[in-house]
Amino acid sequence: MSKVYQKPTKFQTKLFINGKFVDGVLKKTIPVINPATEEQICKIAEATEQDVELAIDAAEAAFPIWSKLPQRDRTEYLLKLASLLEANKEEFIALESLDNGKPLEGAAFDINDVIGHLRYYAGWADKITGKSFSALDQQIFYTRREPYGVVGLISPWNFPLMMAEWKYAPALAAGNCIVLKPSEVTPLTVLRLCELVHEAGFPPGVFNVVPGYGHIAGAAITHSKRISKISFTGSSFVGRKILEASSQTNLKKVVLELGGKSPVVIFPDADLDKAAEVAWYGCMFNMGQSCDAGTRLLVHEDVYEKLLQKLKEYEQNVVIGDSFEVQNSNHGPLVNKLQFDRVMNYINHAKEVEKLECFMGGERWGNKGYFIKPTIFINVDDNSKLAREEIFGPVLVVLKPWKTFDEVIKRANDTNYGLAAYAVTQNAGNVEKFVREVKAGSFYINQGALSAHQMPFGGYKESGFGKDNGEEGLLEYTQLKSVYYSLPNPMV
Ligand code: NAD
Repeated sequence: MSKVYQKPTKFQTKLFINGKFVDGVLKKTIPVINPATEEQICKIAEATEQDVELAIDAAEAAFPIWSKLPQRDRTEYLLKLASLLEANKEEFIALESLDNGKPLEGAAFDINDVIGHLRYYAGWADKITGKSFSALDQQIFYTRREPYGVVGLISPWNFPLMMAEWKYAPALAAGNCIVLKPSEVTPLTVLRLCELVHEAGFPPGVFNVVPGYGHIAGAAITHSKRISKISFTGSSFVGRKILEASSQTNLKKVVLELGGKSPVVIFPDADLDKAAEVAWYGCMFNMGQSCDAGTRLLVHEDVYEKLLQKLKEYEQNVVIGDSFEVQNSNHGPLVNKLQFDRVMNYINHAKEVEKLECFMGGERWGNKGYFIKPTIFINVDDNSKLAREEIFGPVLVVLKPWKTFDEVIKRANDTNYGLAAYAVTQNAGNVEKFVREVKAGSFYINQGALSAHQMPFGGYKESGFGKDNGEEGLLEYTQLKSVYYSLPNPMV
């Protein structure tokens, strides 16, 4: 019997600037919609340019205090926040599910990940070191890592609390103050988190949250000359705008975690039960709204038909519906109408223009809420629009079967993206060649996607650059000085 969660009825809806909950200067609001019912949940205050400026003022003022704290104090603040989140875990799980539409089980996965990740980065705050080098007798050479100051963090809607936390935890651990803009589509868990930040006693101005539209609040962050580092997760389209803003202003440093079109390669020696599991969840997890989703399935010709039949078995276990209405729902709605329409356009294009063979799904579910059935197109040509573009919905594209290893490597690499790559095989030699020759940032071998806190995450090619997670993710929020030091008094 699965856990019963209370549907949230109270929401934090204000901006969080300088330790206070405030309305936007222009008193504008943004409606927040429940994607399972299409009904309005609440309205949140909209941050505009003036609010972003106030948030940067607050963060600038707090920086000397926060960055000069003993590192251990920053650890303690982050640990306290993690404990408060844990104490309110069930509420956060329900809130994330309500706002984003993801099933409660998926939301529980996210919130647990956030708690562990916060603790992981809390532990890093007092472990940021430089290096020293042997030099001549009278000289010392060393490097010193420093925080940037005020960093801008812009996060997407697919894992709302998690994607925000992947950024603010290392940024704060390294001694920066933050101005965070969560997606205007799913702001509620980050706003509720601000109450816990307040309760944890963070100094005012260290943690500022300005939910607003991308082209207004987001652009104000990316164009500010007072911000010298931006970390962004979102589409490649907006990623390009962020680079433009950087080049037009102060050449701020940028981390870009962008889209993907990741290949899943099934070898003829694969355990086919495992292969079906990897192929199904690789794409359908979070209703296909994952940047590292395995959306191009490349199956060897010897096992192609058998694998397709196994995917049918997964279809039978799908329970679609609003998590607060349908017990054990494991497939929720897409996040909003825009995303629903985008995905349905791809499906309609596949059926009507390209005349692709629809193996399952291919239509909306119900007549209320943004639900789309798990959809698979088969025997798809590598040049199909569906094989080339990031759909970001529950649409798996099974490409024409492959025959040789060299052919499948070439086809796996035939994409502008390079976020992840999946393979299912029992042969270690296959794995080694696959990992060496496929251009991607993360490899999932005989398993679905995973994000361990210690493992850097980030893309090759147009999937972006820079890393979240691990030590590398922490160092993104530091800048490095090299010091050549000649001792003033000769040693005797
Ligand atoms: P999006 O690019 O539309 O929006 C992301 C964020 O950028 C939002 O907060 C949005 O308000 C803001 N934004 C929009 N326009 C802006 C502008 N002109 N200036 C500054 N900020 C702006 O992405 P989305 O639709 O929220 O998320 C889906 C995308 O995110 C997919 O492409 C997915 O692959 C990608 N993603 C990547 C990763 C990764 O780690 N690589 C993780 C999750 C999602």
